[in-house]
Amino acid sequence: MSKELNEFLQSNLNDLKSKGLYNEIEPLQSANGPMIQVGGKELINLSSNNYLGLATDERLTTAAKEAIDKWGAGSGAVRTINGTLEIHLELEKELAKFKGTEAAISYQSGFNCNMAAISAVMGKKDVILSDELNHASIIDGCRLSGAKIVRVNHSDMEDLAAKAKEVRESGLYEKAMFITDGVFSMDGDIAKLPEIVEIAKEFDLMVYVDDAHGSGVLGHGHGTVKHFGLEKEVDFQIGTLSKAIGVVGGYVAGTQDLIDWLKVRSRPFLFSTAVSPADAAAAKRSLEILDADTSLNEKLWENATYFKEKLNAMGFETGISETPITPVIIGDEQKAQDFSKRLYEEGVYVKSIVFPTVPLGTGRVRNMPTAAHTKEMLDNALAIYEKVGKEFDLI
Ligand code: PMP
Repeated sequence: MSKELNEFLQSNLNDLKSKGLYNEIEPLQSANGPMIQVGGKELINLSSNNYLGLATDERLTTAAKEAIDKWGAGSGAVRTINGTLEIHLELEKELAKFKGTEAAISYQSGFNCNMAAISAVMGKKDVILSDELNHASIIDGCRLSGAKIVRVNHSDMEDLAAKAKEVRESGLYEKAMFITDGVFSMDGDIAKLPEIVEIAKEFDLMVYVDDAHGSGVLGHGHGTVKHFGLEKEVDFQIGTLSKAIGVVGGYVAGTQDLIDWLKVRSRPFLFSTAVSPADAAAAKRSLEILDADTSLNEKLWENATYFKEKLNAMGFETGISETPITPVIIGDEQKAQDFSKRLYEEGVYVKSIVFPTVPLGTGRVRNMPTAAHTKEMLDNALAIYEKVGKEFDLI
């Protein structure tokens, strides 16, 4: 091994470990359902993005098995050579229907999708206004595009309008785009899309919404754009197939022209093998279920509302969330980590989230109640919260 690489790795790994910033990953010994097994222990799982419990739904696993039997384990090539199987097109048709757009394109992940879509449309002569709390994959996609990046204060419409005016008046740029998460993953607040769309009209901005945490959750499951009825105004509806949809993959839904362009110009579509047939078939099945039946979505909201109300009633600080994402804000980073460890010892799996993922001094644990939790599981978790919350003087 290169001496230089060895020194680089050793010194940086030791540095992270000495500061308590090295994230040790514990594997699950069970599927990622409402109860999980970790380190031989059965725990109530409040950390997954499996909002609707579909990741372990038999209808999806059956669709995946049937697809493997029909199409094999792998897609065999990138989409543009001969890796486009009919199941990919069926998935994309279902996605467009689900999102209320003319067409859709799928990618191997939501992360990949942001890298793909932003850089296929935006370039060096363009400008991107980006909410400061946008997901890492949006930040990386913006950087990759080479466009000028202007950070906009989080959900601050005055700041957005002022910066949009400034970039337009400067005359320095060609295309301009505003990018936002639909639902912000650390606080659970919803982007102010109606105001964003108005500002976008005034300053001729494209609107790009990454709805990783809104799809399956808002708009009776169809997402944040549908929640506000803005399917015609939002240019790019981005999402992941890995959270509420329960599988893996990412997508863009939009006009036929946009999708046609992405099929010839987005690099992960051109140069990375298509999602597996099993993933495509399971995701398609998941969308069909969500289209036909809103009961899982209703159950998610019922569980999340119950859980959040009980935590608030006990005196926990749950922040500004408007969605099932339920942070319990602790403040001090070390205290947040210790709190999470004690919950674990008592039987609740909920990860602490600290700086730099969230601002310094706002360390928290982030609860993700799902449609798959029973009331008994939530009550057991709440009893543990009450006990540990008192130990930590949080309530
Ligand atoms: N965008 C947002 C807003 C996300 O929260 C995530 C998931 N962490 C992603 C994109 C990435 O999605 P995926 O896990 O499918 O790569």
